[in-house]
Amino acid sequence: MDYRITADERTRFKRCRRQWDFASPHRRNLQPAGFAPPALPTALKDALAVYYYPGTWDWQHEVTQPLVHKALKRSLDDCGAADQFEQGAAVLDCYDAWASTVDDFAPVKVNCEVQAIVPDPAEPERGLVVHDGSAVVYPCRIDVLAVDATDEYWVVRHQIVEDWQELHVLVRDEETVAACWALEQDYLGLRIAGTIHNEVRVTGPLDRPPAGSVTTRVRKMVAQHEPSGGGRSLPQHQRVAAQTARSGAVNRTEQRTAGILRRTRIRRSRHEITSVGALIAAEAREMTGWPTIYPTPAKHCLDCEFAAPCLAITEGADPEPVLAANFESPAPATPKPRLGQSTWGFGRGAAPPRW
Ligand code: SF4
Repeated sequence: MDYRITADERTRFKRCRRQWDFASPHRRNLQPAGFAPPALPTALKDALAVYYYPGTWDWQHEVTQPLVHKALKRSLDDCGAADQFEQGAAVLDCYDAWASTVDDFAPVKVNCEVQAIVPDPAEPERGLVVHDGSAVVYPCRIDVLAVDATDEYWVVRHQIVEDWQELHVLVRDEETVAACWALEQDYLGLRIAGTIHNEVRVTGPLDRPPAGSVTTRVRKMVAQHEPSGGGRSLPQHQRVAAQTARSGAVNRTEQRTAGILRRTRIRRSRHEITSVGALIAAEAREMTGWPTIYPTPAKHCLDCEFAAPCLAITEGADPEPVLAANFESPAPATPKPRLGQSTWGFGRGAAPPRW
């Protein structure tokens, strides 16, 4: 069986090995009993997958926005949080009003799942094999793969936040850079220009753009049906004229705040993306076998779900009663049909069967 390293696994391992040892599916595989991810952020991301669905990107706003609401409702109903629909719909409508002023790309894929084989740094053309003979893979899901007016590809990450994040945090967002690398491993020949961090702030007023500041919604800034007329795809033809227009794109970071959303575009160097495989390989070597487990107390302990059993170990007590009473192993995930995973077309006018 392959040794799967996820973004969460990498974060926990480097933050605190004791926390990783509790939570990792390869170790104790524990989570707080009854844990459920917050419903609204999950539902908003599900709705944004419909908002950026490539097959309907060029459709009229009046047709697509009800579909976005429908996706929100379905997701909240599935989580037993139907009472949050009004709040979620208000956020999405406000998002839509601002996004139409800054969306300067066309989506090519949403919720795109990729799985990259981690290379052996000593022999990069071969996959890394760990102590028990397992290959190492890095799976991830990409919120949106987008292409801009100059035919460059960007990995877009939605983040539902209560406050804007510092720019340096976004620049050091390992998960999104790793997604660029994994995507390039899965689609040979594809080159990702960088990452777009799409923060949606769910606290504060839901002000709209001032009247008259937004032109009518005749079409999106970058249409999905260009450049071929048959819809953007993967890979797509890189137009010479579009490539020429790239010459002015030299800024590493560009940031625009528009109401409840903030868009940060970060151009990533070739080294930044291609070196991810070696980084994950080094981490995999340290995780596998018989790694030394020790705590790393710091500010992050304030948010650690394993604080109680960790404290018991630190005091020399037995953590097992606390673990048995308050933690459980998560049930295996049941695959559910979701947007972006399946076999329907992504071209202009294509829509999933449930629509
Ligand atoms: S409380 Fe702190 S030191 Fe203990 S497991 Fe959590 S993060 Fe690690």
